[in-house]
Amino acid sequence: MKESLVISDALVQKYNLPVPRYTSYPTVPYWHEHIGVHDWKQNVQQQFLIHNSTKGISLYIHLPFCESLCTYCGCNKKITTNHKVEDEYLIAIEKEWELYKALMHEKPVIREIHLGGGTPTFFSPQNLERLITNILKDAIVHPLHEFSIEGHPNNTTKEHLETLYNLGFRRISYGVQDNDPKVQRVINRIQPIENVARTTAIARAIGFTSVNYDLIYGLPLQTVESITTTILQTIQLKPDRIAFYSYAHVPWTSKAQRLFDEHDLPPAEVKLQLYKKGKELLTQSGYCDIGMDHFALQHDELYKARLDGTLHRNFMGYTTQHAGMLIGVKSISALIFKT
Ligand code: SF4
Repeated sequence: MKESLVISDALVQKYNLPVPRYTSYPTVPYWHEHIGVHDWKQNVQQQFLIHNSTKGISLYIHLPFCESLCTYCGCNKKITTNHKVEDEYLIAIEKEWELYKALMHEKPVIREIHLGGGTPTFFSPQNLERLITNILKDAIVHPLHEFSIEGHPNNTTKEHLETLYNLGFRRISYGVQDNDPKVQRVINRIQPIENVARTTAIARAIGFTSVNYDLIYGLPLQTVESITTTILQTIQLKPDRIAFYSYAHVPWTSKAQRLFDEHDLPPAEVKLQLYKKGKELLTQSGYCDIGMDHFALQHDELYKARLDGTLHRNFMGYTTQHAGMLIGVKSISALIFKT
């Protein structure tokens, strides 16, 4: 029997709100306690002592630069075409990592590395190699390690992918968002699908075992027809995972969102249709609903982890790994760095 859920207009309006990312509980906006440097250091040392030799640690490294501004963006980023910033930023990251290492009583066991942004592929392959080599030089790589990166389809090169593969990276996530040229123009992210197809094919040929695409529903000028085309084109490329996120309109914190006309945003009831249509097409094509906007093919470890109850969620989103401690190498660097 086909299930059908009737959602009233009032319910749609009530819950059509931007909400924080559920990567922690309580979520970040509800964190009100501040700890001093002494307590913070003690905390890092205690967690490291408990988790390093058993589960290992996860590292999130934030690479904040992008060459152009996408108007929907709510990320922590710096827009610049000056690639000299790469060197200065890496020096800051290296200093920050030294501060962490000074608190560690033994070599860190690295279980996960995720390079996020911004646009990590803004950095040259040589600089990405320098970054990872520096992190790993006094560390032990966990036998079940998982290294991943967010790539921009417009600037990820074969050289980037070969370098990352040789450093142990097997997962890549591409920001696709929407394939419709009209939508791409208004969000200032002109990105032909050929670029997505090309960078996906290169990653697979090199040996990357997992490709994720990020898509967004609720963007300006999106319609049920346009999202249908985007999803069908996406399915053709068979990414292992798809994150189908809701656009959060928060122009009071993300000022770039003032660069398009709010009237172009799909109203709440259309936004719900966009999600339902996308989900219907994905599930009909073999993608399983993992939860909270994520879909995966049945061979993917995310799906298997969901089935056997080992799925985890941390500040990097869903993961099949369960490292005991997550270090975000970005905060100090982001504070001291000026472009
Ligand atoms: S969406 Fe991504 S590429 Fe675009 S400005 Fe934001 S961080 Fe940069």
